[in-house]
Amino acid sequence: MPLSVPPPGSGLVDRYGRVATDLRVSLTDRCNLRCSYCMPAEGLDWLPTPEVLTDDEVVRLIDIAVTRLGVQEVRFTGGEPLIRRGFPDIVARTAKLEPRPQISVTTNGLGLDKCAGALAAAGLDRVNVSLDTIRPETFKAITLRDRMHDVISGLAAAAEAGLTPVKINAVLMRGHNDDQAAELLRWCLEHGYELRFIEQMPLDAQHRWTREQMITAEEILESLRREFVLTDHPAERGSAPAELFVVDGGPATVGVIASVTRPFCGDCDRARITADGQARNCLFAREESDLRAALRGESSDEQIADRWRTAMWSKRPGHGIDDESFLQPVRPMSAIGG
Ligand code: SAM
Repeated sequence: MPLSVPPPGSGLVDRYGRVATDLRVSLTDRCNLRCSYCMPAEGLDWLPTPEVLTDDEVVRLIDIAVTRLGVQEVRFTGGEPLIRRGFPDIVARTAKLEPRPQISVTTNGLGLDKCAGALAAAGLDRVNVSLDTIRPETFKAITLRDRMHDVISGLAAAAEAGLTPVKINAVLMRGHNDDQAAELLRWCLEHGYELRFIEQMPLDAQHRWTREQMITAEEILESLRREFVLTDHPAERGSAPAELFVVDGGPATVGVIASVTRPFCGDCDRARITADGQARNCLFAREESDLRAALRGESSDEQIADRWRTAMWSKRPGHGIDDESFLQPVRPMSAIGG
């Protein structure tokens, strides 16, 4: 008979025995691109500033996660995390925690050319940069901004600053860039960047996602195999979302994150905090736990840790995209933190 509450003093465990050690921290719901699979051209109703956690509140939550709940990796995301003014300081304070977590960021790369060195000095270990194409006109059509050159400079600066391996996330959209998978991989191989394709998920603010329109992992692999020899990577995948393939005999690899067609929920080790301090146990969760209220009330660190444990305990076994009863979460990806 499973326990109805998490064991006292435990980490972020759930009823199915999964343990979350990888914390995604959203620093803002705002973004300076308008990727059409994510948000509409006019943007969204951003969170009012008083609702967003302060830098001190963010660092306090990360401290609780690392020192009381066993979190080993902290990934900053958003929205666009680089537009948060206090970001370098948040990184520096995270890097001082004991035990020191691995620290990474998922970014669209705008402005990274100017801050990569400072972020590395503050303690950032790695970056994942989103780039769906290396054609400027396709970039502009998908993101509604003519900024591809800035992303390319940001990638070079990240490599130069030692934020390696530099990884690239790409989403393919039918009729936009689904014919460019091999071209993007070739470019990444030439520059020493590790490419991961992500299947488009039903997390767009416009609710336009359909299974028929999304490009599946199978289609991505088929199109890559027309130009490259891909073999299964010998390493254990563990909790990594990406299925890895060795390209043309190696050592280079390419990854596919098939969240929709080959879900990996059984091995999930992720927990999430939104920019307004809500704990989410899954990207697709429909419930959140209000840690901001606890932070701004009189709660002690251990009381906040307990609330977080309880939130994680109720994590569902899977995201349920295939269930007839599936409902897209109220918040879009940009407001959850991708
Ligand atoms: N602004 C940052 C960036 O561009 O990487 C971080 C936030 S963004 C929401 C994180 C990642 O989610 C990006 O790689 C983006 O391409 C991806 N993403 C956004 N909407 C998505 C969707 N509906 N399906 C799959 N991936 C999505």
